[in-house]
Amino acid sequence: MEEKLRNEIIDCGKKLLFEDLTFGSGGNISIRHEDGMLITPSGVEYEELQKQEIVYMDFEGRVVRGNSVPSSENMMHSLIYEKRADVNAIIHTHSKYINVLAAMGEDLKAVNYLIASSGDKVVKTTPYETFGTEKLAEYAVEYLGQRKAVILSNHGLITCGSTLDEAFKIARDLEFCALVQVKAMAVGELKLIPDDKIEELVQKFKEHGQNK
Ligand SMILES: [Zn+2]
Repeated sequence: MEEKLRNEIIDCGKKLLFEDLTFGSGGNISIRHEDGMLITPSGVEYEELQKQEIVYMDFEGRVVRGNSVPSSENMMHSLIYEKRADVNAIIHTHSKYINVLAAMGEDLKAVNYLIASSGDKVVKTTPYETFGTEKLAEYAVEYLGQRKAVILSNHGLITCGSTLDEAFKIARDLEFCALVQVKAMAVGELKLIPDDKIEELVQKFKEHGQNK
């Protein structure tokens, strides 16, 4: 089982690069496992990541199996798993258009129906805090709420799913939404999806997945 999850993490890292959702070793990936999580190591390029470099740790920050240093954002992953029983996988990316919004302190809004993959009409942007700190982890949990995504100010995106595949698809959908929002803001006013249509959309995503 653990072997399979480690392979999933390696494949997901390559997909993040392929879809241009991050670069180098930026971001991190984790999956809930037993009483803790499997998480990518700090500073290893996704293209070179080996199965044995993925760290298994508990939610108190202790490395249980593995010799690598875990991702510097491991506290944020732990806190989200502790607060959200529905979350089994978390991805953090440094995606480009999300980062334009993150640099403006803007929330991602309902500019396209794919926003509903986040479980709401908006993805909130946290106040700025230094990476790897407890304060940033707390902001991430607070601004995430019951949604499946949150933007870290001047930094990047966090997505959560019941599976790693779900978290990946949300990251991809939201990067597209961010591109649309940034380009629309550059040429004029946003016309958002009406509030009364959002619940219907969110339901559709829940029932049918994302292959719409
Ligand atoms: Zn980061």
